[in-house]
Amino acid sequence: MTVEILSDGCTEVLMIRKRVKNINLRVSKGRVICTFPYGVDKKYVRDFLERKSDWIKLVSEKQKSQNNYLMGYIRKDDKLQLLGSLYTIIERQEKNNTVKIVGDTIVLSVKDLKDEELKDRVLSKWWKELAYITFDSLIDKWLITLNEYNFVKPYIGVRKMKSRWGSCNKTKGRITFNEYLLKAEVRAVEYVVLHELAHLKIRAHDKAFYTLIEKFMPDYKVRKKALMNDLLQG
Ligand SMILES: [Zn+2]
Repeated sequence: MTVEILSDGCTEVLMIRKRVKNINLRVSKGRVICTFPYGVDKKYVRDFLERKSDWIKLVSEKQKSQNNYLMGYIRKDDKLQLLGSLYTIIERQEKNNTVKIVGDTIVLSVKDLKDEELKDRVLSKWWKELAYITFDSLIDKWLITLNEYNFVKPYIGVRKMKSRWGSCNKTKGRITFNEYLLKAEVRAVEYVVLHELAHLKIRAHDKAFYTLIEKFMPDYKVRKKALMNDLLQG
C-alpha cells in the first residue's frame, strides 16, 4: 500500500494505492480518501479526481459545517434542543442554582440573573449529567438486547467532541459520547449507542460490523439519517 497526499490548496485528497479492483472515492471525518488499484496510472487518478472536484468540495464543505455544528452550543438564545424536542428556557432568580424541565420549558434558576457566566455553568453541568444518565441507561437497555454476546458493561465518558458522536476504546472497555448528541432524538442516539457497543467486539467498520448492527437494528440507516437531520437543524 502506498499513500500520497494530493492538495489543490483548499482540499486535500489522501491517495492510497492498494490491492483493490476499482477506484473508490469517499469522505471520512472531513478527509477525502481515494483508493485505487496498483495497475492504474497516477495521472488517470488525478484526472478522475479533477472530474469529481465539485463533488469533493461539496461533500467536504458539508462535513466541515457538520463538524462546526458539533463544536456548537447547548442553548441558542432562549431555546434548547433536547432529545429531538425544542424547549424554551425561562430564567428565574432563586436561592439555589437549579435546572428543571417543566412541560416544554426548561426553568433555569440562578442566584444572580445578571451573571451570564453562572447561567452557562449551571446549564452546562446539568446538561452533562443528563447526557451521562441518558447514555448510561441506553447502554443498559442495549446490553440486555445484546446479552447473547456477554458484554462487560463499558466505562462511560461524556465530553464535548469536535467531529464525532462517540468513540470506543476496545482495549480499555470505554465508550465516550459527545455531549451534543443529547440534542438528537432517542432513536438516533440509540444508533450511536449500538454502534459504539458493536466496536467493543469489532473494531473496523467492515461488513461483519454492520451485519451485527443490522441484526439488532434493521432500520439503522434511517436512524443514522435522523441523527444528521436532528443535529443540523437545532
Ligand atoms: Zn465507528
